[in-house]
Amino acid sequence: MRRFTNEPAGLFFSDIGGPDKEELEAAYATIEASRAAITKQKAEALFRCAMCGETTPVAIMEYIQTHWYTTPYGCSSGDYWTPGEGMVACPACDVEHRTNFSPGLADLKESFGTQSDRNSH
Ligand SMILES: [Zn+2]
Repeated sequence: MRRFTNEPAGLFFSDIGGPDKEELEAAYATIEASRAAITKQKAEALFRCAMCGETTPVAIMEYIQTHWYTTPYGCSSGDYWTPGEGMVACPACDVEHRTNFSPGLADLKESFGTQSDRNSH
C-alpha cells in the first residue's frame, strides 16, 4: 500500500538563461511606461478633415462602428451581424470619413469620445 505525506517536496528547475528577476521587472516597467505613453498619445490625437481641413481632437468626436448583415441559410444556420469598417463624421462640415481609407484611424477607436453602432442590410 502506498504511503502519503504532508511534507513539502523540493522543486528544482533547469536554468533557461535570460534576464534575472530584477531585469525582468525593469523590462516590464519599461513596457508599461511605453503603453501608458501610447495611450496618452492616442487620447490626444487630432483628426484633420480631408474635405474642409478643420482639425478636431478625437476625444470629442464620435466613432461609428458599422455592421453588415448575413441572412439565415440552410435549415440550422441563423442570421448574424459582422463588424465592418468605422465611420467618423467631421464636426465642422459633417462629412463622414470611412476608416478603410484613412490608415490608422480605426486603431484610435477607443480614444474617441463616443462610440456607436450602425447596422445596414
Ligand atoms: Zn470637415
